[in-house]
Amino acid sequence: MDYSEKIARQVAAIPRSGIRDFFELVQGREGIISLGVGEPDFVTPWHIREAAIYSLEKGQTSYTSNLGLPSLRRAISRYVDDFFDVHYDPAGEVLVTVGVSEAIDLALRALLNPGEEVVYHEPCYVSYSPSIVMAYGEAVAVETRKEDGFSLKPEALAAAITPKTRVVMLNFPTNPTGATASKEDLEGIAKLCVEHDLMVLSDEIYSELRYDENEPHVSIATFPGMRERTILLHGFSKAFAMTGFRLGYACAPQPIIEAMMKIHQYSMLCAPITSQTAALEALENGSAAVVKMRDSYHQRRDFLVKRLNAMGLDCHTPGGAFYVFPDIRKTGLTSQQFAMQLLEEEGVAAVPGTAFGKSGEGFLRCCYATGFDELKLAMDKMEAFVGRL
Ligand code: PLP
Repeated sequence: MDYSEKIARQVAAIPRSGIRDFFELVQGREGIISLGVGEPDFVTPWHIREAAIYSLEKGQTSYTSNLGLPSLRRAISRYVDDFFDVHYDPAGEVLVTVGVSEAIDLALRALLNPGEEVVYHEPCYVSYSPSIVMAYGEAVAVETRKEDGFSLKPEALAAAITPKTRVVMLNFPTNPTGATASKEDLEGIAKLCVEHDLMVLSDEIYSELRYDENEPHVSIATFPGMRERTILLHGFSKAFAMTGFRLGYACAPQPIIEAMMKIHQYSMLCAPITSQTAALEALENGSAAVVKMRDSYHQRRDFLVKRLNAMGLDCHTPGGAFYVFPDIRKTGLTSQQFAMQLLEEEGVAAVPGTAFGKSGEGFLRCCYATGFDELKLAMDKMEAFVGRL
């Protein structure tokens, strides 16, 4: 049978994830040091795992409310109030999802009519463009530049807005660059969104992982006129080291949550109850563990930035997340060539910048959520590799 005839056009149109392609190459090889996978190297703190185990022991194995456990929604509302300084009513403005991944998909499907445009900054997380396409939207990438710390400048956003623009998608701190946005830039972006009456999808999954004490995380939802047009996405995967629990949430005005809920109730029903119970424990008692993990990432970021610059690869100091994005252009290799040769010759896996969009060409994503000894070895090997070029 010719299955190409059977697959929906919008699915056939999206590429496979560049990260997945790269890691299929790595799989099965012995002794690889990986700076590739974007997930914490920490195991979920024990008290959170214990809460999950205890919930199973008590026989909590049912569906929950479609929106999520009321106790968890209340805890999310309190946490978001404290951390982001925006209030959402747990009764109708918070939706618990299967990771931020599901929340992105729901939000785009809830907002977009076919052919409407979503503007996002690139390099960006691999799922954005495919998720827009699968929601029948048009993906419009705005390139960010190393010179601007890979942050989105309001002027660049303004130039990309057309009458068909419906949504602006933001992700600060950013995967893959670790970029953060200044208050001034966020203010400029917010003004444009109000002026053009745009909705904003703000993926703030790395917001706890900010390293400059003088520049705490600020959500776009806090700017004038923005709460009513922002869908704030957050989750437990990164800060709480809970990727496998698959838990995230969306906070937004009630009609938007209601629209997302309509899809969620038929596709997912609810997020798993065991994960929801663990997440409640994370919010109630997990903040000390988050600070400890963040401090450890901070040290590793400083180490990596120093080593990469010392070996001649220009690397800006990212303000957040757990990635660095060194410039490899002066080696004369493309991102793909650099990553492949580094893997072949030294057994170090890092992701070519092009996996995160065209504008990632000339860069490499290194994730530093990896043990210190491995990071050191990876840097020694990369230095030897660069030295031979
Ligand atoms: N958003 C960004 C920017 C990410 O980097 C990731 C995962 O790497 C996700 C969303 C997906 O998160 P989750 O595990 O909550 O689905």
